[in-house]
Formats: sequence, structure tokens, C-alpha cells
Amino acid sequence: MIKDIVLLGSTGSIGTQTLDVCEKHGIRPLALSACKNISLLELQARKYRPDTVCTADETLYSALKLSLADTDVRVTAGREAVCELAGRECDRVVNAVVGFAGLYPTVTALKAGRVLALANKESLVAGGELVTGLAREKGRIIPIDSEHSAIFQCLQGSAGNKIKKIILTASGGPFYGYTAEQLSRVTVEDALRHPTWSMGRKITVDSATLMNKGLELIEAVRLFDVSADRVEVTVHRQSVLHSAVEYEDGSIIGQLGPADMRIPIQYALTYPERYAAPAKSFSLFDVGALTFERPDEKTFLCLAAAKRAVKTGTTACAAVNGANEAAVKLFLDGKITFDRIGELVAGTLDNADCGKGTSLSDIEAADRTAREYVNAKAG
Ligand code: NDP
Repeated sequence: MIKDIVLLGSTGSIGTQTLDVCEKHGIRPLALSACKNISLLELQARKYRPDTVCTADETLYSALKLSLADTDVRVTAGREAVCELAGRECDRVVNAVVGFAGLYPTVTALKAGRVLALANKESLVAGGELVTGLAREKGRIIPIDSEHSAIFQCLQGSAGNKIKKIILTASGGPFYGYTAEQLSRVTVEDALRHPTWSMGRKITVDSATLMNKGLELIEAVRLFDVSADRVEVTVHRQSVLHSAVEYEDGSIIGQLGPADMRIPIQYALTYPERYAAPAKSFSLFDVGALTFERPDEKTFLCLAAAKRAVKTGTTACAAVNGANEAAVKLFLDGKITFDRIGELVAGTLDNADCGKGTSLSDIEAADRTAREYVNAKAG
């Protein structure tokens, strides 16, 4: 069993569930980071006694420092400070930050040769070859995302055999079966109600637009080094099969289990070993029938845009990711309707020149250009 972790994004949905797993197995969080929610970060510091806590928001440094003045916990702030934690010596760095901001600690952790338990899919989507190259040469990535954890598990017995395709399952989100006209009337409240998973706000909206599946498709291409044509997105409403791999001989190996993120989180921490389930297990008799359907890419534009982006290259992926983050923020702030998220993400690929290249500055430029395009179009 591993002894310690650094946990980035400890106040979020993945972060708090990671702490549940740590508690169950006596794993020590050496350091925790968050952004705005310093009251929860303070409670976590008192409960788990990390040696350091960090807020990414420098304006909150004094308030956090004051709240922990009676403890010996070190308090730091800012993006560089988050990265400093990501590079620390430990058994796993868990990146559960949301959005493009997660790219910086991902890069730092891998450069430092750490084993990175990665929930922050945006860093792999936007970082592309920069991140996969670092993982190959220096560090290692173990996926936390449930679908990628499933694929990773299905590959454990591959004995070096090539795979024919990856079957990436999707719940279909709360607006499964909706027409474009129905999507235009979706409210923020509707979009934040996911049928299966309880998650942070951004990924919940991403699940509703199917952008989450688009990001995951890019994530699968990057993590498992397959072409986009070999990743088949399959709508599976029951969320019991978390994804599967088809081998050349037609055998499909899948991973099934309860829809509880603590299971893939635990596996990413304890891999290659398995320990008692952190969640209630189920019987296949309770599950009943499993169904599989093709996604509706004509109505859910984000998925098609993500597919196009990954075929184009790293900066195109950074662009759709940045465009999506900007569009989701506008939607959550009540400035655009739900259906415009897909239009703006697809429009970015068609209209914004996001450049080429795979360096961090190329990626940052693509992200910035995409956000500017979306904000200008929406305004
Ligand atoms: P949440 O919004 O619940 O949590 C995000 C965390 O990141 C919080 O701790 C937040 O701090 C912190 N954070 C926000 N902005 C910054 C920043 N600029 N710099 C550093 N830290 C920041 O998100 P989730 O836990 O739902 O998702 C986290 C990641 O995991 C995402 O990439 C998501 O796609 C992925 N994921 C999530 C799943 C889930 O079930 N939730 C499943 C699979 C993948 P604060 O709250 O203090 O502002």
C-alpha cells in the first residue's frame, strides 16, 4: 500500500472522494491545494494534518493563513505554489483540479518523474504530445477518469497484443434523445442535474453537452496511443459497463461495476494491487438489461468537434478545450443558451486560427485565441 500523496483540487468532487479513500486505507495527504473554497480547505487541513495547504488564488492567501494561524500547517498561494506541490516527492500526485489550470501541475509532476493519478482530463486534452511525451520519458500517468480506468484495467491482460478498438461508454447525459430545439430551452438548473454521477459544475455541463465524451475521446487517443477512428463512443444508459477493449480476434474485454468514482480513484492509488471496495458493490441480477446505442452527433455538436480536433492536432485540441471552458462559463453565468456551447466550440475550429506546434506556449496561445473567439462571438 502506498504511504502518501499530494492532492491538488482537494475541495472538489474528486478531491473529497480521494480523501475518503485515503482515510479508509491510512494514506497520508502530505499537501492539499484548492482555489476559492478556503473554508473547506481549512477544515481538511485540521482533519488530515497535511504539512502544506495551498490556494491557487493569491488574493485568498491572508485569509487562509489567518484561519490556520493556530496550527503548524504551512500556507502557500498562487499557480507556482500549486506546481511546487505537484513536483514533491510522494507515492502519487493526484491532479483533481478542474480545467486548463490543471495543465501546469501535470507538466511539473511529470517533469519531476512522479506517478500522476490524473483526473484532470483537460491537461491531457490541451497538453497533447507535450504531456504524453513527458509521461513516456520521465513520469507516469494512471487514469482516474472512470472510462479510462476501465480501459487501463482491460489492458492489464493484453500480453502485448494489439487492440482493434476501444469502446468508450457514455451515459448520454440528462438530455439524451433531445432535439436541437429542445436543447435551446435547457436551463442551468436542468444541465446541472446529471442522471448518474454527482460531479463538479463544469464536468456536469460537459456531460450534458457530450463535450465530456469528446474530451474523453481525445484523452483515450492520447493515453492509449490509438487513432481516433479506433475509439467508438457508445451510449450506454445504465453506466454499468465503464468501457471496453476489443482485441483483433473479436473478443471484447470490459470492466463493469458500480458508478462510484471512489473505485477508479482507489485503483489509481493502489495499482497494481486491489483492496476492499470503497463503495457498495452490486449484483448483476440487480442490473438487468444493458443497452448500447450510437450517439447523436448531429444534435450534440461538441462530440463531433472534439473528434475533428484530435485528427487535426494538439493546438486544435487545446482550442476546443479552451472554447468549451469559455462557453460553459458563459452558460453558467446566464449569458448564452445551452445549445450555443456546441455552436461556439465547433465554430472555434472553423474560424479561429489557433496555430500549430506542441510547445507550452503554442498550447497557451491556442487556448487564449479560442477563449477570445468565444467571448467575442457571444458578446
Ligand atoms: P470540482 O469543480 O468539483 O473541483 C475542482 C477542484 O479544482 C476544486 O478543488 C477547486 O478548488 C480546484 N480549482 C478550481 N480552479 C482552480 C485553479 N485555477 N487552480 C487550481 N485549482 C483549482 O471538479 P471535479 O472534482 O468534478 O473535477 C475535477 C477534474 O476531474 C476535472 O478535470 C473533471 O473533468 C475530472 N473528472 C471528474 C469526475 C467527477 O466525477 N467529478 C469524473 C472524472 C473526471 P475550489 O473548490 O476551492 O475553488
